[in-house]
Amino acid sequence: MADPTIFAANWKMHMQPGEARTFLEQFLTLDQPRPGRTVAFFPPSVSIEAVADELREHQQFLVGAQDIYWEPKGAFTGATSVALARGAGAGAALIGHSERRHVFGETDEETARKVRAVLDGGLMAMLCVGETLEEREAGRTSAVVTRQLTAALTGVERGADLVVAYEPVWAIGTGRNATPADAAAVHRTIREVLADLGLPPGTRILYGGSVKPGNVAGLLAEEGVDGVLVGGASLDPESWAAICAAG
Ligand code: PEP
Repeated sequence: MADPTIFAANWKMHMQPGEARTFLEQFLTLDQPRPGRTVAFFPPSVSIEAVADELREHQQFLVGAQDIYWEPKGAFTGATSVALARGAGAGAALIGHSERRHVFGETDEETARKVRAVLDGGLMAMLCVGETLEEREAGRTSAVVTRQLTAALTGVERGADLVVAYEPVWAIGTGRNATPADAAAVHRTIREVLADLGLPPGTRILYGGSVKPGNVAGLLAEEGVDGVLVGGASLDPESWAAICAAG
């Protein structure tokens, strides 16, 4: 069976095309992930084509968009459709990242429309879910991720093209990661919700939130943690290569 592990880099609003090319040229000279593992890059949309071009010869890499608008085309200034992303070389899209939800005000309903558009368009959808610190402290982690998953995935059937990323909001960019045991506990909840929604048991669930070379192995050692989604530490070729070579 193929190794299910995915290492995903979310470059957020960093890396113009030339910088992305320089990053990848350097990254490809460093220790590479084990054969069969997938490494996904989510650059800003202006750099998707440059990343796809640099990685063309390398089977285990995937490029994706950080966000997608559900309409196929039209007067939607600033938005990127599935077709536009695919045309630039994307094979995947992040959906519902906490910065889309909390900075840009994306609702559960909008996230659901985006997931459908991405899956119907034949791309891999990497759906992000996770609770805020306030929600965690109020004991609402399971309720929040259950609500987000149910809203986004009810009626979705394409489990093979779906990846869920558990990203506690309080751990993103803060240097404070969930312990491996805490992450694994939420992953178990997510797996139960996916089963209730009729999605396949093999649906991959990643952890994201202040993953670094020093903590990635402990997270990947937990059963049910199928990879990581990484922001800050994916912006440096050496730390990203160290993360991708781990586990
Ligand atoms: C992210 O942006 O998805 C993320 C997990 O960021 P960081 O690794 O910087 O916490």
